[in-house]
Amino acid sequence: MKPKKHELHRDTLAVREAVARSPYGENSEALFLTSGYVQPSAEAAARRFAGDEEGFTYGRYGNPTVASLEQRLAALEGAEACISTASGMSAILMMCMGLLKAGDHVICSHSMFGSTIKLIGSDLARFGVESTFVSQTDASAWKAALRPSTRLLFAETPTNPLTDVCDIQALADIAHSAGALLCVDNCFATPALQRPMAFGADIVMHSGTKYLDGQGRVMAGALCASEALVTKTFLPVLKSAGMTLAPFNAWVVLKGLETLDIRMQAQSARALQLAQWLQAHPAVAKVHYPGLSSHPQHELAMAQQSNCGGAVLSFEVKASDADQARARAFHVLDSLQVLSLSTNLGDTKTLVAHPASTSHGRLTEAQRQTAGVVQGLVRVAVGLEHISDIQADLDIGLTTL
Ligand SMILES: *Cc1c(COP(=O)(O)O)cnc(C)c1O
Repeated sequence: MKPKKHELHRDTLAVREAVARSPYGENSEALFLTSGYVQPSAEAAARRFAGDEEGFTYGRYGNPTVASLEQRLAALEGAEACISTASGMSAILMMCMGLLKAGDHVICSHSMFGSTIKLIGSDLARFGVESTFVSQTDASAWKAALRPSTRLLFAETPTNPLTDVCDIQALADIAHSAGALLCVDNCFATPALQRPMAFGADIVMHSGTKYLDGQGRVMAGALCASEALVTKTFLPVLKSAGMTLAPFNAWVVLKGLETLDIRMQAQSARALQLAQWLQAHPAVAKVHYPGLSSHPQHELAMAQQSNCGGAVLSFEVKASDADQARARAFHVLDSLQVLSLSTNLGDTKTLVAHPASTSHGRLTEAQRQTAGVVQGLVRVAVGLEHISDIQADLDIGLTTL
């Protein structure tokens, strides 16, 4: 590669970083579908397996297409390095297996992604990992939960589905004061809007399944961190545990990164318009969206998320009790003619879901109340349809409650 005259802008990196051309000179990134590699000599093979020489050895350990995705995502997050995984959850598993041992302690917010709470709070508890779940927005609660054994603070911002925002810098300071690391799940904001490392986070975790792919096609996950964490702490787990990202999935996400910024800008602009429209709707009791000045952490969100609320919002339908609220939320969902009734997010197609009966269905009613996931709550992951069509489709149910 020719030396760069200056540091490239993020927009340029999104389409140009890590284009490792084969001898054919293809312009679009090649997809290397291979599980093994032919070694130039027995000596070279020995050096590569010992880690003394660069070079691919086996598909579980690495692949050129996967490496391109990792390099590009690291560049967008402003991280030294990145390691990708088969899904977002396996990225969290890799992080925990790499960093923690029995007796170590983790602090998370109690409004983390449901499977994250299950993995850390239950599955890893069977292996002796201890955890405390605290308020998303009260930094003093995170500080109070610190123990001498605390190794990791793990935050997600904004949260699903209520879009609560935590102060990344404050949590990083708390973690570092105790010799612990801070990981931020950056799935909702993506590096297009929020780069947690700029606020002191040590690790950025991604579900590439969501906005990084951006069109709802493949599962993927990643951890961005220092070169040392990636090569010494996470890569050994990948090698032995094998939560490897498939090259095809890596290629889809690699190409998805090229349009990440314009998708996030366009989808977030629609989300803001929709949030304002819902706020004025007579059938709607409350709208949760960081881009609205009524959001409790609006100013923090704007400072942390490039002045943008993101593409996910949720709203509560008006109702007299929980049963009526659930029936009304279901009515809004069942009246949709264009938008998708789906619990996924991060697609160009707008996805509408009822969190209380799906993503948060396994929680007890008391846990749901604590998390604020009430029966009348509807989540919208706004896509790229025309805003008038998105509004009209939600209006069908909202005007016939
Ligand atoms: C979807 C999601 C995950 C898990 O990612 P998968 O790719 O589904 O394994 C983790 N965190 C958040 C915030 C998510 O939305």
